[in-house]
Amino acid sequence: MENCIFCQIVNGSIPASKIYEDEHVLAFLDITQVTKGHTLVIPKKHVRNVLEMDSQTAQELFSHIPEISRALLKATQANGLNIINNNEEIAGQTVFHAHIHLLPRFDEKDGLDIQFTTNQPDFDALNTLSETIKKEILS
Ligand code: 5GP
Ligand code: ZN
Repeated sequence: MENCIFCQIVNGSIPASKIYEDEHVLAFLDITQVTKGHTLVIPKKHVRNVLEMDSQTAQELFSHIPEISRALLKATQANGLNIINNNEEIAGQTVFHAHIHLLPRFDEKDGLDIQFTTNQPDFDALNTLSETIKKEILS
C-alpha cells in the first residue's frame, strides 16, 4: 500500500535490517531498539492490524514467532522475551500495518517496563463477561 512504511520495507524501497524473510513474512530490527534485538515480525500483505487479519495470514505470521524468538534469545544472550502487539491508537499502534514486537529481556532496567494492575477477582463479573464473549465467538 502506498504511503505505508512497512510496505515500503517489504518492497525494498526503504532499507531495514532484516533477520528473516519468506514468501509471506518478514522480520527486521525495530529502529528504536527498546531492548537489544527488538524485532518486528510482519505479514508481507498489507493488513491494518490483528483485528482485520484473516486466519491464513495469522497462521503464516504467528507460526514463525517461536523460531525467530529462540534465535533472538541465543543471538543476544537474553534471559527472556516479551511479545507485544498493539491494535489501534488507544493501544499504542503508530504504524498501521500489522506487526508483532519481539523484545528480548535482560534485566529490570533494560528499557521495557510493563506492569499489570492487580484487582481483587470478581468471579460473577468474570462469568458474565465470559458468556458474552463466548456468544460473540460463536456468532
Ligand atoms: P507500534 O507503535 O505501531 O506498535 O510500533 C511501530 C514500531 O515501528 C515502532 O517501535 C517504531 O520504532 C517502528 N518503526 C517505525 N518506522 C520504522 C522504520 O522505518 N524502520 C524500522 N525498522 N522500524 C520502524
Ligand atoms: Zn503496509
